Amino acid sequence: MYRTDSRKAEEFICHEEILDTLDYAQAHCNDLAMVRSILEKAKACKGLTHREAAILLECRDAQMTEEIYQLARDIKQRLYGNRIVMFAPLYLSNYCVNSCTYCPYHIKNKHIARKKLTQEEIIKEVTALQDMGHKRLAIESGEDPLHNPIDYILESIRTIYSIKHKNGAIRRVNVNIAATTVENYRKLHEAGIGTYILFQETYHKENYEKLHPRGPKSDYAYHTEAMDRAMEGGIDDVGIGVLFGLNTYRYDFVGLLMHAEHLEATFGVGPHTISVPRICPADDIDTNDFENAVSDEVFQRIVAVIRLSVPYTGMIISTRESQRSREKVLELGISQISGGSRTSVGGYAESDLLEENSAQFDISDHRTLDEVVAWLLRLGYIPSFCTACYREGRTGDRFMSLVKTGQIANCCTPNALMTLQEYLEDYASPETRVLGDEMILRQMEEIPNPAIRRRALENLARIKKEGKRDFRF
Ligand code: SF4
Ligand code: SF4
Repeated sequence: MYRTDSRKAEEFICHEEILDTLDYAQAHCNDLAMVRSILEKAKACKGLTHREAAILLECRDAQMTEEIYQLARDIKQRLYGNRIVMFAPLYLSNYCVNSCTYCPYHIKNKHIARKKLTQEEIIKEVTALQDMGHKRLAIESGEDPLHNPIDYILESIRTIYSIKHKNGAIRRVNVNIAATTVENYRKLHEAGIGTYILFQETYHKENYEKLHPRGPKSDYAYHTEAMDRAMEGGIDDVGIGVLFGLNTYRYDFVGLLMHAEHLEATFGVGPHTISVPRICPADDIDTNDFENAVSDEVFQRIVAVIRLSVPYTGMIISTRESQRSREKVLELGISQISGGSRTSVGGYAESDLLEENSAQFDISDHRTLDEVVAWLLRLGYIPSFCTACYREGRTGDRFMSLVKTGQIANCCTPNALMTLQEYLEDYASPETRVLGDEMILRQMEEIPNPAIRRRALENLARIKKEGKRDFRF
């Protein structure tokens, strides 16, 4: 039985409802009047139901497809402007007791180098990340109660927040660790984490069980209900996602939106972010083994329709994607990207050799953070190192209500420009500095509220002339 506010995984991600939705989408995707009326609804930024979204995903009419893309661009511009939030993953440990068939950290992989960072090594990693200019991290760890217990994760978070190297600081630590108990989520909340991120991988229960044959992650319901427990534990901001390519994209796309609807119906606030990783090669993982691999064209459509369906939810893309692919989806809806990433344990402070030996996945975008920042500036985006909302207590429904009334726009642009100025002063190459200064000059004119513009100008001057840091609205 399908019930969006049920607390049971198989009721809020109801297999029959997904199959019915896919049939419904097949039956109506060529009904252009219906497609047009869905686009009208999306235009008002009120979001779409999973059924409406499935129709847009399925529609192959050329004119309508262009309208879907154009509306996604418009909504992206209207709600997020040209700001792109920057972050980096930090791998703490690749010990893992699970057996995910698509991940080289699976327990049976004997030729990958296993490593868990000590607190001293974390200091080195975070110092290297701060020296690149990062302010926002997503920590990642395999599941292993012996090597990576919750106390290790909590201690690592404390270490990360405590490091102040030169003008650097990590101001927001998002956490991507295995599904856990309400009690452990409460501890993470008390440790001051930003978003708790957990990918569902696939919502298809039968395939999920095949892809996760052993280990705690094999329990589909426990994994799928993790965000409910996280919210019960006090975590306001949760990030969901699937690994596109593990299962048919249509099924997982509908499951993803049903999960968002469930969180909204149950807790009054949907997911803070949605990540859209695609299966990619890695040590002992061959993408040819995955018949559902998603093409660039389908991937772009997925991003565009998610943008229309949950307009206020941030969308994240990693360095799994190439520069070309990232460029395309940035305009269609992506609001956060990683830059200069290493997907191995100890990869920021250590050599490239380690990256080859212990990476979770192969990176397609190998550019440094400075190169990514310069690239974004050339494309007309403002790379933002802002972490203000979480630090001002604007999380969960408080955050969403500010976003939905448009008030957040008064904060985002000045915060983006001030944090970009910090980056330019402390870390940028001369070329990036020129591009960034030009961008800041242009964008200051665009801040509509004169009082905020004046204060932002004062703060920019203090960042440059007095060496002050960490201003925020
Ligand atoms: Fe372990 Fe996560 Fe990799 Fe699965 S995806 S093997 S849980 S690190
Ligand atoms: Fe994100 Fe808030 Fe900063 Fe805007 S002000 S970029 S919503 S953290």
